[in-house]
Amino acid sequence: MLLFDAHRYLHGATSLDEASPGPRLYQVVCGTCESAWAAVRAHASGNGRSTPMLGLHPWFLVEAAPEWAERLESLLRSPRVGLGECGLDFTRKVANKAAQEAAFRTQLRLVHGLGRPVAMHVVRAWGRLLELLREEGIPPAGARVHAYSGSPETAQPLQSMGVFLSFSGDLLAPDHTKVRECLLSVAPSHLLLETDSTADLARVIAAAARLRGVTEGSLAEQTWENG
Ligand SMILES: [Zn+2]
Repeated sequence: MLLFDAHRYLHGATSLDEASPGPRLYQVVCGTCESAWAAVRAHASGNGRSTPMLGLHPWFLVEAAPEWAERLESLLRSPRVGLGECGLDFTRKVANKAAQEAAFRTQLRLVHGLGRPVAMHVVRAWGRLLELLREEGIPPAGARVHAYSGSPETAQPLQSMGVFLSFSGDLLAPDHTKVRECLLSVAPSHLLLETDSTADLARVIAAAARLRGVTEGSLAEQTWENG
C-alpha cells in the first residue's frame, strides 16, 4: 500500500528506510519559522520519500527577521521545495490581522512567481482567506489547507478554486463533530489526509474511510494520487 501524509513537522517525522517492507510512506514535512527551515530541508534531501515545505507561519511573524522573505525566496529556489505553512490565524493574539494578511500575500506571490505548491494554515479566518485567494489567485502548482477546520459551506468554494482540503487526527477527537461532517463534503479528487505530527496515519485513514463508507485501501490510493 502507498500512504501519503500530507502534513507533518520534523519532530515526530518517521525516519524512512527505502528498503523496508510494508506500506510505502511519503510525507510532506513543514518548516514554519526561520529557525526550522535549514533542518527541514536537510531532512528531506536525505531521502526520496519526503518533500520539504518552508514558510512563515502566522504564529511566528513577530520573531521573523526583517529580510525573511528574501531568505525564504532563495530557499524556495532549490529543487523540490514547496511553501508552507503560511496563512491566517485569527484566534491568536501574537500578530495582528493586517500583518498576517501582508505576510500571506507576500508568500502567495512568491509561489506564483516560482511555480511551487503552497500549504495553508487557516483558523477562524475563512472569509478573508477566500477574499485573498480571489485577489491573489491560486498558485498553479497547487494549494491545500491543512487540518481543515472550516465549514462545508467554505469547503465548496475552496474546492471550486482547486484547493485541496487535508484532514488531520481531529477526525478521531470525540468533540470534533464538525470536522467529521466537513469530511463528507469534500470530493474524492480534493481530499488529503495528514498526521499533523500528532496522529497515527493508519488510524486517520481508517477513521476517514469508515466515515466516508469506503475501504481503507481505496482511500489510501485516492489520497496518494491527490498527493
Ligand atoms: Zn497549522
